[in-house]
Amino acid sequence: DGSVALEGVTKRYGSETVVAGISLAIPAGEFFTLLGPSGSGKTTTLSMLAGFVMADEGRVLMGGRDMTRVPPRGRGLGMVFQNYAIFPHLTVAENVAFPLSVKGTSKSEIAARVAEALAMVKLTGFETRYQRQLSGGQQQRVALARAIVAHPRVVLMDEPLGALDKNLRYHMQVEIKDIQRRLGMTVIYVTHDQEEALTMSDRIAIMERGRIAQMGPPREVYEKPQSSFVASFLGEANLLRVRRDGPAVRGPGGSVLVAAEGGLSAAEGLAFVRPEKVRVESGRAEPAPNRLTGKVLHASFLGNIVRYEIDAGDGATLLCDAANAAGVEPHRPGDIVTMIWRPEDSRF
Ligand code: ADP
Ligand code: MG
Repeated sequence: DGSVALEGVTKRYGSETVVAGISLAIPAGEFFTLLGPSGSGKTTTLSMLAGFVMADEGRVLMGGRDMTRVPPRGRGLGMVFQNYAIFPHLTVAENVAFPLSVKGTSKSEIAARVAEALAMVKLTGFETRYQRQLSGGQQQRVALARAIVAHPRVVLMDEPLGALDKNLRYHMQVEIKDIQRRLGMTVIYVTHDQEEALTMSDRIAIMERGRIAQMGPPREVYEKPQSSFVASFLGEANLLRVRRDGPAVRGPGGSVLVAAEGGLSAAEGLAFVRPEKVRVESGRAEPAPNRLTGKVLHASFLGNIVRYEIDAGDGATLLCDAANAAGVEPHRPGDIVTMIWRPEDSRF
């Protein structure tokens, strides 16, 4: 089947450990994303799955079989990479046919499979064109068609949309998702773009210096980050200094803060809340838990939202995003406001 697993996989270059004992299990048909900053070990991990790089320690399993020492050809994977290297001297049809031609598939079957793959990426009619006659997005589709033409159960993709502009990127994200669902393929996808990871994935592994910092469904890793690294990497995050004061936890201006999960275990720590979870009301806060008084420093109009930067005292500045909804008057710089959020939207 299309299940994939890594067991304690490690890769070192000289004295540098670039992948440090990663373990993960991906069920067949899952869209799984490795997300992380540049240099965190995403490509190296994917290369060990592909067989281009040999692990120093650990095992690579596919469909339950040990593939650790199997060369790339024997793994039966589809692959798409960022520099979508389609062969310039071959036509679109010849490019897509390539994985089948090298396997010695019959001419009639190749023709049928190529037609099917091109239809899937909406490039029917482009068969005889060459690379120089294609836009970036069309070249990317050819690379995608070539990756799926042999009906692999598992497809690896390393920043495949990195070279495309925003609109085309979004369009291709939808297209890749759609093809993955229709074919029931396992996709292991690499990106450094958090929005792309959140929209496309069933599960995300956030990588930090060769390790998995956290792994889970998009909403879970976004709303319940287990570290400030994950919180900040997945979007804007308010991280406020808090300290224990008897049974209470106090934040800026002596405010009492409450979090539904992850109670403060040390004397000091950080409270996490996303900007869109903070409600901003006019005027000073009545003394109550999770109510902070602050002064608006900036109000930035971003189209669908207004982003406030609010001074909450004690050197703490909060970002608060308010929907630019009908009938909502924005707060202005200098206004005194109250910030409120629900305990369940916050963690220590
Ligand atoms: P990412 O894809 O997340 O940007 P990579 O897996 O490409 O990260 O690289 C992780 C680290 O390993 C980086 O510090 C990189 O410089 C190093 N690295 C990758 N490939 C090699 C190599 N062939 N030789 C030496 N160092 C490498
Ligand atoms: Mg990379």
